[in-house]
Amino acid sequence: MSALKFIALSGTTGVTENLYVYEYGNDMIILDCGVGFPDLEMPGVDLVIPDFSYVVKNRHKLKGIVLSQGHEDHIGALPFLLKQANAPIYCAPLVTEFVKEKFRDNGITDYKINTFNPDRDTVQIGPFRITPFRVAHSIPDTVGFCLETPVGKIMHVPEHKIDQESVDGMPFDIVRAKKLAEGSVLCLICDCLGANNKGLAPSSVPIEENMFNVAKNAKKALYMSAMSSSIGRFQQMINVAVRLNRKVVFVGRSVINKTESAHKLGYLKYLDNQVVEFKKTKGIQPRNLMYIIAGCYGQIGSSVYRLATDDSRMEVSEGDMFIFSANPAPPYSKESQDFVIDELIDRGVDVHYYDLNEGLHVSGHGGQEDIKMLFDIAKPKYFIPTGGTIKHMYSFEQLVVSTGRPKEIVFKLKPGDSVDFKDGTAVRGQKVKVKEVMVHGLGIGDIGKTVLEHRTLLGKQGVVVVVFKASKEGKLLSKPEIVNRGFVFEGISAGLLNDAIQRLMKHIGTHNKLSSKILKDEAIKFLEGYFYKTTGRSPMILPVVVEV
Ligand SMILES: [Zn+2]
Repeated sequence: MSALKFIALSGTTGVTENLYVYEYGNDMIILDCGVGFPDLEMPGVDLVIPDFSYVVKNRHKLKGIVLSQGHEDHIGALPFLLKQANAPIYCAPLVTEFVKEKFRDNGITDYKINTFNPDRDTVQIGPFRITPFRVAHSIPDTVGFCLETPVGKIMHVPEHKIDQESVDGMPFDIVRAKKLAEGSVLCLICDCLGANNKGLAPSSVPIEENMFNVAKNAKKALYMSAMSSSIGRFQQMINVAVRLNRKVVFVGRSVINKTESAHKLGYLKYLDNQVVEFKKTKGIQPRNLMYIIAGCYGQIGSSVYRLATDDSRMEVSEGDMFIFSANPAPPYSKESQDFVIDELIDRGVDVHYYDLNEGLHVSGHGGQEDIKMLFDIAKPKYFIPTGGTIKHMYSFEQLVVSTGRPKEIVFKLKPGDSVDFKDGTAVRGQKVKVKEVMVHGLGIGDIGKTVLEHRTLLGKQGVVVVVFKASKEGKLLSKPEIVNRGFVFEGISAGLLNDAIQRLMKHIGTHNKLSSKILKDEAIKFLEGYFYKTTGRSPMILPVVVEV
């Protein structure tokens, strides 16, 4: 009997970019295919995606792509994958709509989606019999999976909380999950992000009343913002609008598209006369409107960002109210959210946000007790934490140990690490080589360490370009020209730059015949030293030799 190989291609040690591979004999499936977000060391980069090299190399084995939810860090990289390796996609109804929207935006037409019903369906993909079950999360139609494989049962729950009073009316299906776990579960693979948070993750139900209590004091226009996929939160906002006799206006492409999909499927309930298009709001008093607007983290270019920087069709005025129903959790979202909060307050808006602790947001991730409930449901022989950083994986391991189990049964995986399951046991498998794949504009994976280093250097220190004119024989024909960007202001520092040129000429000697390589190397070495000595800075030196 061959082994079942589980590979965490990415999605461990980072919170996002989920992509897991299951391989048995000549069959392979992928579970989730998400994007990651660039960190501060990646200037200019739009997105980070998983390294698909292993999948592409084995694409003849790929039988299916299974998706657990509609968040970007679980579906965002699909267009990139499908261009290199295609297979039928399996997911719940709302996820289907989000994926279709994504493919439309990216010009992907060659795809097949099999939509499953998480309350009753089971799908068979090669040797894998896969049954979804509902879990509570910040977006409806999120599921965990029970995978029956030739070597045993695996329960894989990428993100969850237990929340039994889920606002979208689709709570964690404990009964179905327990039934699926009957017999024995070989391994539980699950979210560890909340492993440091004591207790159960709070329910999102009280948020509606908290929002109402704040919003009822709004005298003029009322704005609300949450993550564009937070359908349950939007429902709460709509309910508040109805109670306050305000009509809802959706603003921003992501909010409009996602609420439309959710409304179509019946996950977002409102009557036609409770919602009004932006272009039809003329003549309606601001006190009769509630704008639900995209860009809760103040992302540059988003509707909230444009509103806060007077670059929008709408205009805030003194006495308006803005409610942020989203705490800045994704990397670097705090800086951008803080920026728009400041801008709005400065324009006289009454802003309600995370720091004021008014109960306007809760996380979609389970805490320690939510995670331990999964342990109780699955009673697995082994554990693999995912979706958290190294500290979360460590805390998850502690949590397993706190239930009286040995820590040896927890596999803390780094990207590319694998586990082989065979004969009822699990051992570490071969590591798959993976690298970070960055997307910038139309370029995918063409940015590596060197480009990032150059960008960082340019951003921090600036650049000095020295242009030499030389004859074919390598004789310098005139004094080199020097230009800089971001190093010093030429109007003030012309003396410094001229001095640098004089000294450089003296250093290389005007009569020597030098190859352009030696000339460039000497210029870099000399100017680096000179500028560091005179300014304490290290700009990038870029010598150019023009043969005349
Ligand atoms: Zn999620």
